Amino acid sequence: MSLHDIGEFGLIERLRRSVRQGAGVKIGIGDDCAALEVPAGELLLVTSDLLLENVHFRRDWTDLADLGAKSVAVNLSDIAAMGGTPRYLILGLGLPSTFTLGEVDRFLEGFLEEAAASGVSLVGGDTCRAEQFLSVSVTAHGTVPVSELVRRKGAHPGDLLYVSGELGDSGLALCQLTAGQKPEPAVAHRHFRPRARLALGRALASRGLATSMIDLSDGLLADLRHLLAGDRLGAELCLERMPVSPTFERVTAGITEWRNLIFNGGEDYELLFTVPEQRRDEIEKMTGEFDVRITQIGKVKQEAGVVEVLDASGDPVPVNSAGFTHF
Ligand code: ADP
Ligand code: MG
Repeated sequence: MSLHDIGEFGLIERLRRSVRQGAGVKIGIGDDCAALEVPAGELLLVTSDLLLENVHFRRDWTDLADLGAKSVAVNLSDIAAMGGTPRYLILGLGLPSTFTLGEVDRFLEGFLEEAAASGVSLVGGDTCRAEQFLSVSVTAHGTVPVSELVRRKGAHPGDLLYVSGELGDSGLALCQLTAGQKPEPAVAHRHFRPRARLALGRALASRGLATSMIDLSDGLLADLRHLLAGDRLGAELCLERMPVSPTFERVTAGITEWRNLIFNGGEDYELLFTVPEQRRDEIEKMTGEFDVRITQIGKVKQEAGVVEVLDASGDPVPVNSAGFTHF
């Protein structure tokens, strides 16, 4: 059956039937608006990301289930970075006229799987025909207790700088695909199926450990600058400490341009955060608790806008810091 046969309302009805109404949803798909609960004493967090064919993804490289899952994960990553709990999703779809019902179902399979894994409900959206290219717009709503909100600003000179997980795999997969190579499965997975660090972000917020936090979408150096800008601070990073996967280590050995993806590869979706030095022990224990590497990669400094990368002997090394920007 084609999209043409079932039509916009048939598609929405199909969507409505495949979605389970989750916690806090008074009214979900089907009315003019969704009606949603926000726990007393919590702030509503709202964030949106647009994924456009040939700008953010290529359909010939991408399994639509992965795209569906990723469209959820990239939004939840922003909620994680504020220390929030994700709750509700809105999905805007621009579907090419040639799209089949099977393709819509495949996308939704990944979307709903990722939403369920994070305890989030799809509560509404909009569906339109697009001329040629697929577009996906997801808006996520989360909540956070007022006193636990973590922002990009809030760091102090001397705070330790930490990052979760490993850096550069996603950017490496993209570079390899662009060069006509096939990325290894572990690296490809990090690009096509990122997972938001929700439990870690929430714990850092509820324990009052992070003084500032951001999720890494544009590259470590670019996002670090966002983190530091609000407080007019700087930072030093230790080259030796940068966490990378064994695959990244092997594939990028001797290729400076690829090696630099640690600093400017996009779409890591890891958390970058600052912690007062006296709480170091509490952070280092969290690796075991959350089953994710948590690495101190440097320190916050007083000098506004100065970010230095130091080698093992403490000498500055030049690093190309061109992160991703659209224009
Ligand atoms: P309206 O014209 O009033 O905006 P629509 O006919 O577009 O209403 O949508 C009807 C219902 O279906 C609404 O509850 C809307 O949120 C939901 N909906 C439409 N498209 C989607 C989608 N892609 N994902 C989830 N819900 C959707
Ligand atoms: Mg509508």
